[in-house]
Amino acid sequence: MAAITMRNVVKQYGDGFPAVNDINLDIADGEFVILVGPSGCGKSTLLRMIVGLEDITSGDLFIGDTRVNEKAPRDRNLAMVFQNYALYPHLTVFENIAFPLRLQKLDDAEIERRVHGAAELLELVEHLGRKPANLSGGQRQRVAMGRAIVRQAQAFLFDEPLSNLDAKLRGQMRTEIARLQKRLGITTVYVTHDQVEAMTLGDRVAVLRKGILQQVASPRELYREPVNLFVAGFIGSPPMNFIPAVVSAGELNTPFGAMRLPDSRSPELDGKDIVLLGARPESFDDAAIVSDAVRDHGVTFEANIDVIEWLGNEQYAYVPYEAPDDIRDQLADLERELDSEALRTQLVVGLDTASQIAENSTA
Ligand code: ATP
Repeated sequence: MAAITMRNVVKQYGDGFPAVNDINLDIADGEFVILVGPSGCGKSTLLRMIVGLEDITSGDLFIGDTRVNEKAPRDRNLAMVFQNYALYPHLTVFENIAFPLRLQKLDDAEIERRVHGAAELLELVEHLGRKPANLSGGQRQRVAMGRAIVRQAQAFLFDEPLSNLDAKLRGQMRTEIARLQKRLGITTVYVTHDQVEAMTLGDRVAVLRKGILQQVASPRELYREPVNLFVAGFIGSPPMNFIPAVVSAGELNTPFGAMRLPDSRSPELDGKDIVLLGARPESFDDAAIVSDAVRDHGVTFEANIDVIEWLGNEQYAYVPYEAPDDIRDQLADLERELDSEALRTQLVVGLDTASQIAENSTA
């Protein structure tokens, strides 16, 4: 097993902006790191450079203490698990798992020992004689992982391994991958665009945007302390609300009413005209029908609920609003900069499931 270190790693395909731009990332020995970001942000390119399927334009890549930029994939001793599993249809499960060991010309007894060890770990022993066509998606996934395990590779690299599976199986496989990684303690890099996988699987999550690393942190830290608007809006589902507000005289004037600035934030916000108030749907407190409610803290506001989504364990209310006319232009600029419609004209509010609120009511 080994650490993976990237120093100023760049990938330039053509003339445009680099697909991967000056990445510095230290993945510790045994660590599980997730690469996440929107489509085209460079996550697969980065993974393919680690495994050696893509040349590095500039910068340095180390596996352990060895610089591997010029090393062929087979000399890096990394195991990659692809989305489509890349199994050989004409070979049995046993032979699929044994394949890399046959290439290494190990003797039959050693191959038998390693394949059985992996099959036991992955609960595949009873399927060793079958062909991939006769396996479920989850079992195929496990065969692909078995092949990675028997090689005793220095690290596992996963490229969206669960995206072909249905939701239930994806949940099961996610738990299995997490359990297996913990048991084996093997360095793992895992590419996904799935929020749940990103937040539940890794020790740390690396968020990429347009080839640039935005933040590398534990899931908890990303959620609580995003370093910029992009990370704040990308992590979390439904996403964080960004509510435009005008600062004046120690108050935030939002489309929903005025809010006193916390003393700790007053100095840094003073002098700024417009700010965005970030509020996660789940951080709204026990919303309920209120009339002339009086609260001793926070803000109480009235709004028309457009739609309510009831998901069983949670419900979300969609509240339309109009940003004030005088700041619309500035919001449009911010939206362009963010390359998203983050500054929505609606608010998503998480409600207590016990709240009985009718659509089109005032809450
Ligand atoms: P997705 O989630 O859609 O798979 P990604 O984050 O994995 O996206 P990459 O596949 O790494 O993104 O692509 C990053 C950028 O590099 C994209 O703009 C893509 O069009 C470009 N790109 C990828 N492969 C090549 C290539 N072989 N030639 C030219 N451009 C490429």
